[in-house]
Amino acid sequence: MIARVTLEIALRKEFDYFIPPELVDQVEVGSRVQVTLGSRKVLGCVTGLAEESAHATLKPIVKVIGAQTLVTPKILKLARWIGDYYCCAPETALKSVLPEAVRHEQANWRERLHVRALAPADELPKLPKRQKEVWSILEERRELPLSELLALAKTTAATVRRMEDRGLVTIAPEISERDPYAREHILPTQPLALNPAQAKALAAIKEAMDEEKAEGRTQKAEVDEPSSIRPPPSSPSSPRSSTFLLHGVTGSGKTEVYLQAIAYALEQGKGAIVLVPEISLTPQTVERFKARFSSGPLQTLVAVLHSHLSAGERHDEWHKIRQGRARIAIGARSAIFAPVEPLGLIIVDEEHEHTYKQEEAPRYHARDVAIVRGQMEGAVVVLGSATPSLESYYNCGKGKYTLLQLPERADDKQMPVVRIVDMRQTARVGKAVPIFAPQLKEAIAHRLEQKEKVILFLNRRGYSTSLQCPLCGFVAQCPNCSVSLTYHRQGQKLCCHICAHVEPVPAVCPNDKCRNPAIRYAGLGTQKVEATLAKLFPHARVVRMDSDALKRKEDYRRILGDFRAGRIDILVGTQMIAKGLHFPNVTLVGIIYADLALHHPDFRAGERTFQLLTQVAGRAGRGDIEGEVFVQAFTPFHPAIQFARRHDFEGFYEQEMEFREQLKYPPVGRIALLTLKGRNEEKVKFSADYLKHELEKAVGDIKDLVLAGPAPAPLLRAETYYRYQIMLRAQRMALLSQRLAGLIRSLTLPEDVTLAVDIDPVDLA
Ligand code: ADP
Ligand code: ZN
Repeated sequence: MIARVTLEIALRKEFDYFIPPELVDQVEVGSRVQVTLGSRKVLGCVTGLAEESAHATLKPIVKVIGAQTLVTPKILKLARWIGDYYCCAPETALKSVLPEAVRHEQANWRERLHVRALAPADELPKLPKRQKEVWSILEERRELPLSELLALAKTTAATVRRMEDRGLVTIAPEISERDPYAREHILPTQPLALNPAQAKALAAIKEAMDEEKAEGRTQKAEVDEPSSIRPPPSSPSSPRSSTFLLHGVTGSGKTEVYLQAIAYALEQGKGAIVLVPEISLTPQTVERFKARFSSGPLQTLVAVLHSHLSAGERHDEWHKIRQGRARIAIGARSAIFAPVEPLGLIIVDEEHEHTYKQEEAPRYHARDVAIVRGQMEGAVVVLGSATPSLESYYNCGKGKYTLLQLPERADDKQMPVVRIVDMRQTARVGKAVPIFAPQLKEAIAHRLEQKEKVILFLNRRGYSTSLQCPLCGFVAQCPNCSVSLTYHRQGQKLCCHICAHVEPVPAVCPNDKCRNPAIRYAGLGTQKVEATLAKLFPHARVVRMDSDALKRKEDYRRILGDFRAGRIDILVGTQMIAKGLHFPNVTLVGIIYADLALHHPDFRAGERTFQLLTQVAGRAGRGDIEGEVFVQAFTPFHPAIQFARRHDFEGFYEQEMEFREQLKYPPVGRIALLTLKGRNEEKVKFSADYLKHELEKAVGDIKDLVLAGPAPAPLLRAETYYRYQIMLRAQRMALLSQRLAGLIRSLTLPEDVTLAVDIDPVDLA
C-alpha cells in the first residue's frame, strides 16, 4: 500500500511513501505521519491512499503521530477547497486546519500518577500508623492523584509505595485534563421564553435543520450515485438558503436564539460550532454557553479554542471535541476547523468583523469557510450581527441567504439617543480644538454627579499622533515604514504603530540646521484623553484600556471586572471596548473623533465607520436608565455618521450600494489583491509591471475583468519593505483564482521580491 503525503514544508507537491506492514492498520487518509525527505525528518498528512505509485523506489513511513486520525476526511476536503479558492499551496491550507498544539509531535495529554484503593475494607490487614492514615483517605475517595493524597496525608511517596507492594493500592499514570475554566463557578441557566421575533427566527432555523436532516438521509442512501452527490461549491456566495443572516440590534437577544438553536442541534444528535471574534471571546461569553449546557438531558462539554490558552489546554480542548465529549466548540477564527462530528449548526456571531479574515496565508475568511463547510456537511449556518457586512446583506437580497430580523431590544430597553456634535463649530468658538466639546464635557459632569458610568472611545493609541517642528516642518517618521511616529507620554518615547519601532523623544528638533527647542505635538490619542480627563475631573476614577495599557492577559479581565463592579467611573479605550461588552450601568458614551476611520484610503471606510459608531453606541443604556451617545465629528453630515445616528442600517445600505454598484466593488464584484514587496523599490516596481503583463495574458480574457495598477500600496513602505499592488475585480472568483494559481506556479520573480495573493481582501492597505 502507498500513502500520498502532503509535507508541512511548503513544496506545492505531494509525495508517495510506502506503508510498512506494521503500520498498515494505523495509516488512513488524514493521519499525521513522520517521513524522511532527503536526510531530514519531516511531518506531513496523508491525503490519499493508492495501490501503486509512478515512482519505483519508495521510502517507508517512519511513524504515525497520534492515536486517532487528526484530520478527518471532511476537514481534508475543506482544506482542499481553501487551497483552491484562496490560491495557496495545499500544505499551507492543511497547516491551518490543525492547531499548533495538536500538530506538534510531542503534543499529548498530561498524565499524573493516580492512586486507587484495591482492598475491600473488611479484609484490611493491620497497618502501621502512617499507612492507616493514608488508607482512611482512600477509603472515602477510592481514587485520587498521588500528589493530592500525599498533601492530605502529610506523608511521602514511599509510604504509598509500600502499600502498593502489599497489594492494597495501585499507582498508575492517568490522564488529567487541563481545564482552563475549572475555577469558574458556572450556574446552569434555562431557556428564556422567546419574544415573537426571536421565536420566528428560531422556527426558521429549526425548519432548515429538519430539512438538512431529511436530505442527509436520502443522500446516504444513494451515495454510490455520483449524480446525486452535490457538487462542491465554487465560491462562498453560492450556498443554498440554509444560511441565515440574523440581523438584530445590540441587545435584541441573538445569543438566546443561538442557544436554543444549538439545543435543537443536540436534540438531533448533532453538534455545533460557535465563532466569536477574538475580542468578544470573554469568560462572560463562554460562560453563557457553558451554563446552558452544563446540566439536563442535553448536557455536553463546551470546548473553547482560544489563543490565550496554554498549549496544553488547547490540546485538551481540541481532543475533547475530536473524541465527541464536547459537542459544542466555541472560538475565534480557526475554530471553524473544529472536528465536530456530525455537525448540525455553525454560528458566526458579529459576522461583519474583519478579524474573521486571516491576514497571512492561507488568507481565508472564516465566515465564508463556515458557509462552505455548512454546505459540505449539511449543517445550517447562522450569521449574526447588528451591523451586517454589505456582502451578507446583499446575499439576502439575492436569495442566497435568508434574512431574519430582530428589530427591538429583548429587554424592552430604548435605543440610546445619539447626538452629533459639529466640531467645526467648536473649533471656531475657541482657538485650539478642544478634546471635548462643551456639550460632552457638561454631559460627563452630569453623569458623574448622578453616579453613573461613562465610556469614551477613540480608536487611536498613544498621546499625540505626531511630533512636528513648527519652524522647519520636520515630522518624526518611522525609519522602516511610511508613517509618522506616535508620541507616547508613558515611557517618553516615539513609537511606530506598524512595525513597533521605538525611539526616545528628542529634546530639540533633530534637523541639524534647525535645532529648535520648541517642538510641537499634534493630534491626539487615548493617553491624552486620559490625561485631560484627570485635569477636568480630578475626582473621577479614570482607566484607560488599549493594547499599551494591557500588558498581561489578566489585565483585560480585571479592568472589565472593576468597571462592572462600579470601581471605575470613566473607561477610555480603543476598539477594544467597542465590541459586545455589556455593562448595565453605562449611561453615557462619547465618541471623541468619529471621522477617524473615514479618512482611510479604502472603499470600505464608510461601512467601517457606520459599524464602529453603531457598535460603540450600543454600549450605552443597557440598564434601567436611558442612554445617551455623543458623537464628535468634523464631517457631521457624512452619511455613515447620519445613518448611524438614526440607527438606520437599511438606509445606509441602500446609499452605500449605489457607490459599490458604480465601481463594481464588493459585494457587486469580487476582488483579488496582489501585493509585491521587496527592499529595493525599483525592483518591486519592475516586477509589478512584469506581473501585470503576465496577468493580461493569463486572465485578460475573463469577461468583465478589471485590472487596476500596479500602484504603490496605500502604505507604500512597511517594516522596511516597499509594496506595490495590482487589483483585479471580477464578477465571479472561482475561475479567476484557478487561473491565478496556474500563473503563480509558473511565475519567476527576482529572489528578493515576494508576491502575496489576497482573495476577497478586507484590508487594502
Ligand atoms: P444580543 O446577543 O443580540 O446582543 P443578548 O442575547 O445578549 O442580545 O440579549 C440581551 C439581553 O436580553 C440579555 O440580558 C438577555 O438575557 C435578555 N433577553 C434575551 N432574550 C430574552 C427574552 N426572550 N426574554 C427576556 N430577556 C431576554
Ligand atoms: Zn515602522
